[in-house]
Amino acid sequence: MNIPSQRLSALTGPACLEKVISRLDKVKSAGANKWIACCPAHLDKSPSLAISETSDGVVLIKCWAGCSANDVVQAIGLQLRDLFPGNTKRRRGPSKAAIEHERMILQIGQSLQLQGILEGDDLMRFNLAKQRLGVK
Ligand SMILES: [Zn+2]
Repeated sequence: MNIPSQRLSALTGPACLEKVISRLDKVKSAGANKWIACCPAHLDKSPSLAISETSDGVVLIKCWAGCSANDVVQAIGLQLRDLFPGNTKRRRGPSKAAIEHERMILQIGQSLQLQGILEGDDLMRFNLAKQRLGVK
């Protein structure tokens, strides 16, 4: 039964958190980027596993009964590296190359604007680059 969800997470990119949470029982939100669930590594009657996600997309897990993170991920058929988004190439937000590209468009747009010939599609693309770079 694990295969479909593995396929799904492969399709949806990093989503380490979803991969972990979809395998746990009684998952409840415990605040911003925090969840609690039953620990799969010991006989857990009331949820004692704390899960949180860092801004980098790394999943942190802590069992208050003392199971190690390794025990927990193995119990749900994952490995510790599944908690880190670094093993996939996709990341959140634009890549460095994409940002450079937008900067180039911005610079060209600005020079066209100075010459008074920024219009039509170029103007729209220029505005999009400004929006993506957060330039006003
Ligand atoms: Zn535990």
